[in-house]
Amino acid sequence: MLVRKILKQLIVILGSMPAIVDKETCTACGACVEVCPVEAITMPEKAVIDAETCTECGVCVDECPVDAISL
Ligand code: SF4
Ligand code: SF4
Repeated sequence: MLVRKILKQLIVILGSMPAIVDKETCTACGACVEVCPVEAITMPEKAVIDAETCTECGVCVDECPVDAISL
C-alpha cells in the first residue's frame, strides 16, 4: 500500500517538469521574461521560473540566447 502511494507521487512529480534556469549561464538579458505567455518568469537578479505557473510550453527555452533554460 505504501509502495503504491509512493509510486503515485513519483508519477505526479516526474510527469510535471517545469523549465529550469542555469543561473551560472543566465546573463539576465530578460528575453525569456518578455516571451513567457503565462508570466511565469521573474528576474530579481537572474531569471527565476515559478514551477507552479510554468506550462512547459518551451518558448523561453527557444528564446534564451545562451541556452540557460532547459525543460
Ligand atoms: S516553458 Fe513556457 S510557461 Fe514555462 S517559463 Fe518557459 S515560456 Fe513560461
Ligand atoms: S533569456 Fe536566458 S540569459 Fe536571458 S534572462 Fe532568460 S535565462 Fe537569462
